[in-house]
Amino acid sequence: MRKSDQNSLPRIDLHIHTIHSGDSSLRPNVVPRIAIQRGLSGIAIVTHHKPSHVARSAFREVANAAPENLLVVGGSEVRVREGFHILTLGFFAEDGIPLLQLSELAKAESGILVLAHPFTLSLRLPKPTSKLPVHAVETHNAKSIPFRRSSALAQEYANRYQLATTGGSDAHSPYSIGNCYTVTDTLCETLDDLIDAIAKKRTRGSGKPTPIPVRFGEIILSLPYRLRRF
Ligand SMILES: [Zn+2]
Ligand SMILES: [Zn+2]
Repeated sequence: MRKSDQNSLPRIDLHIHTIHSGDSSLRPNVVPRIAIQRGLSGIAIVTHHKPSHVARSAFREVANAAPENLLVVGGSEVRVREGFHILTLGFFAEDGIPLLQLSELAKAESGILVLAHPFTLSLRLPKPTSKLPVHAVETHNAKSIPFRRSSALAQEYANRYQLATTGGSDAHSPYSIGNCYTVTDTLCETLDDLIDAIAKKRTRGSGKPTPIPVRFGEIILSLPYRLRRF
């Protein structure tokens, strides 16, 4: 495929946090506009480490502000009992659930599980060493450190276990939305289209890291929201 063709393929940012995540300055009503400015055809609003009803509200607020031509997927980012961060796309879940139980829940809800930023430098995050019951691996997370190496390791892991790959910005402010994204070879207009594309491994992660100064800026911008309760 030529590079120009690749550039025109639909892009979905599958990892965005709003103020409901408690450490982001992104107001739900501004997210769709910025996503469209960045050329995205879809976004996933994941809320981390919060009860499911909070994650559901975040999704609804963004979806209500979105035009029809922008796919908005709702979900959670949970820390499972085994310590991994998992994105649940199409349904909501809470921290502390064992991964196998989450996998059963995903089946029951017809949702998707994505292993988030598996190889970023972190003392708290375990590195996967065997096949996990997930549908996809987030090979491109704009906040992973070091970006190229952690992306390469995640790609290797996905290849070894024949898992689909995705990308997401892990945005906590308007400035990093779309830095990483998931490329799909057909336009995903509905959640079912996206689930189908991931199940058939017709997605891949891509993008660039969020620059360090922007990351510091995000932390400063989020301070008032970190002090609030939702
Ligand atoms: Zn995470
Ligand atoms: Zn995140």
